[in-house]
Amino acid sequence: TNLSIGVDIGGTKILAALVDEDGKVYGQIHRETPNHDVARTERTLAEMIRELSEDNDQMPVGIGAAGWMDRQGKNVLFSPHLSWRNEPVRDRLMKLVGHEVTLVNDADAAGWAEHRFGAGRGESDMVCLTLGTGIGGAVILGGQIHRGKSGIAGEFGHQVIVPGGHRCACGNRGCWEQYASGNALGREGAELVRSKSPVAFRLREAVGDNPDAVTGADVTRLAANGDPACKDLIEDMGGWLGLGIANLASVLDPGTIVIGGGLGTASKQLVETAEETYRRSLSGRGYRPFAKICQAELGPAAGLIGAADLARFNQQQ
Ligand code: BGC
Ligand code: ZN
Repeated sequence: TNLSIGVDIGGTKILAALVDEDGKVYGQIHRETPNHDVARTERTLAEMIRELSEDNDQMPVGIGAAGWMDRQGKNVLFSPHLSWRNEPVRDRLMKLVGHEVTLVNDADAAGWAEHRFGAGRGESDMVCLTLGTGIGGAVILGGQIHRGKSGIAGEFGHQVIVPGGHRCACGNRGCWEQYASGNALGREGAELVRSKSPVAFRLREAVGDNPDAVTGADVTRLAANGDPACKDLIEDMGGWLGLGIANLASVLDPGTIVIGGGLGTASKQLVETAEETYRRSLSGRGYRPFAKICQAELGPAAGLIGAADLARFNQQQ
C-alpha cells in the first residue's frame, strides 16, 4: 500500500498517523501541543514523524495546523490559537525531518477528508465546519479546496456576527467562533456556574464548584444525559450556528454542510438546532433548495487523514 503521514496540530493536541490511499489510518500517536513555543512544537513534530516513518524519508508528510497558511503552503502567516507569526514552517520542518512536507489549514484538511472519504463523499460543492477551540472552515467548490488569493479563504470563525460582542484572539470583537465553538460553550457553562443559579446544579457538581474547570465537553456530556440547563446552552449555541450557516449559504450555495470537530461530532442536538435555525433564516427560503446539513463521519482523525491525502496528491503532481 501507498502510505503517507498525516499530522493534525490543534490548540491542545497533536495527532499523527500513517494513512493509506483509501483514508485508512494506521498506528495513530498523539502528544500535547507545546504551549506557545514554536521551536518545541516543531521538535515534537519531527519526533512524531520519525517515529511513524521509521526513518523512511520517502514518505510524504501532510500537516494540518490551526493557522493561516499562504497559498504555497510555505509560511504560516498567523494563528489565533498557536504561536506562529509569519514563520517559514514548511522549510524548517523539511530540513528537520528530510521528508517532503505539505502544510495546510487544519479545517481545510478535515473538510478534504470528509469530501474524499466521509460525510461529503460525492458532493462537489460543500462547506465543512470544525467546531473545537474555534470554528474552522473549509470550502470545496467543484471538487477542489477553494483557498483564495492569499491562501486564507474560509475563515468563517471570524465573521463578525455580534458587533461589539465577545473579544476574539484574531483582534476583533463578536466573531462567530466566540458564539458557536467548544470554547464558547465552555465559557457559557462557566458563566452559568458562576451565577450560582440553582438550575446549574448538575454542572456545578460535575466541576467541583469550580467555574474555571468547565469545558465545552462537560456541557455537551450533561446535555446528552438530559440536563435541562446544559441543553439550553446547546440550543442557544445551535441558534448562533444556524444563523452563521445561513449567511454562508447565501454566499456559497453549497449542496452539503458537514459539521465536525470535537463539539460538532459529539452533539447531535447542536446540529439539529442549527439546522432548524438555518431553515428559518435562509434568504429566499421556500424558493430555493436547502443544503443538506449533517454531522462529520471521520471523527478526530479527519484532519490528519485529509492532510495525508493532500500530501500524496501533491507528490503525484
Ligand atoms: C482559525 C482557523 C482554524 C480554526 C479551527 C480558527 O480560529 O482562525 O485557522 O482552522 O480556528 O482550529
Ligand atoms: Zn475572530
